Amino acid sequence: MKVSSNSPKLIFEEKKAIKLFLWLFYVLFFTYDIYFYNILPKYTDYGGSKIPNGGLGIWIYILILCLLPVSIYYIKKGNPYFVKYFILFSFIFIDVIDNIIKYFGTTTIFASGNIVELLFVFFSPVFVNKKYFWTVTLGIIGKYMLLGIVLHDPDVLPPIVITVILSAIASILLTRFFSYINSLTSVYEELHQKEKLVVIGQMAAAIGHEIRNPLSSLKGFTQLQQERNPNGNNFYPIMIQEIDRINSIVNDLMYLGKPRDIKFEKASIEEIIAYTLSITQQQVDREGVTVETIIAGPLPPIDCEEKQLKQVFINLIKNAIEAMPNGGQIRIKVEVSAEGKLSISIEDEGYGISEENIANLVEPFFTTKKDGTGLGLMVTSQIIKDHNGELKIDSNIGKGTKVHVTLPLTQKI
Ligand code: ADP
Ligand code: MG
Repeated sequence: MKVSSNSPKLIFEEKKAIKLFLWLFYVLFFTYDIYFYNILPKYTDYGGSKIPNGGLGIWIYILILCLLPVSIYYIKKGNPYFVKYFILFSFIFIDVIDNIIKYFGTTTIFASGNIVELLFVFFSPVFVNKKYFWTVTLGIIGKYMLLGIVLHDPDVLPPIVITVILSAIASILLTRFFSYINSLTSVYEELHQKEKLVVIGQMAAAIGHEIRNPLSSLKGFTQLQQERNPNGNNFYPIMIQEIDRINSIVNDLMYLGKPRDIKFEKASIEEIIAYTLSITQQQVDREGVTVETIIAGPLPPIDCEEKQLKQVFINLIKNAIEAMPNGGQIRIKVEVSAEGKLSISIEDEGYGISEENIANLVEPFFTTKKDGTGLGLMVTSQIIKDHNGELKIDSNIGKGTKVHVTLPLTQKI
């Protein structure tokens, strides 16, 4: 799921994070310097004189403080995303200038850095932004490398090593955050999908119910008319065909709405396939497609809901035919696999499915056809799931598609 960073909730989250960051930044920055320049020298030989001399001196504090109103302005203006970069780059810039003035051309040993640099690295996962994480890491390492080169001083190495180690830890945190967010998002999407299906299903069941009865009388009357005037009107076959098409769409839709308690009964897969082929025969002839069926029989009966399996194979064979607008061959192979499962493959020589579409196939309403419904594969996969089976689709663009269905022969009840 792609989330726009302009969503008010996310802006709110970013504001919270950046406010927290600013607090920590200023508190740490100043306490560290007070400690370093005022407390440490009192008790040890370390630390600086009372206030930093050399470099930008007291100006460094004034400049750093000036960043605050600008940051607040941007947070208020509704562009909080910018603030973290602004603080980072300004800090690095001020620090580089300060150090160059302090150490350039002197023999003073390089001893720089404020503990807030560690805050930059450690806090970076909180923004849950990979780009920012890398900007911080590379920015701070880059700063020390630049100083090392300009000042010819190898003492920049320890802070670089510390930054690398901390970045490694921060990157683990960041990766964990991302994987957690990703799984939350997919759980949410699954839920969303389910809810969508429930609503579609209820609507479909209601509408389907209303459509079905008039549809079957319509078909009956059309057939009757056709029998009465056998040579009169060659629109009848087309009318019947279109009625069948509506019927199959209604069937697909209705499957979504039904509470599915399947009654498994023994049925012959040979008969199911034969029925499917008889239903699709007309379309096969019309499109100039040939069908080769290889049944490694005799096959044992299978526990299934016959009507539903018929729907599965009608959907799959229809898709195969529709994938070959210029004709071609469909190869259907049925056998019992080595694991004792029924394995059915339907292979066509059609236009194939692109890699990015494969993932979407079982989404409701995903279709690439002008008058497709995008329900066929979704219903198909649902029925196969309900039969504890498996659906696999392999496809080669321009070469064809192989749909592989595996079904257990017996169902545990
Ligand atoms: P519909 O057939 O109404 O489009 P389906 O759910 O049956 O809906 O199929 C969804 C999409 O999957 C199709 O639009 C098509 O792009 C693709 N597809 C399915 N089967 C095949 C196939 N055998 N060859 C090529 N594309 C296929
Ligand atoms: Mg279809």
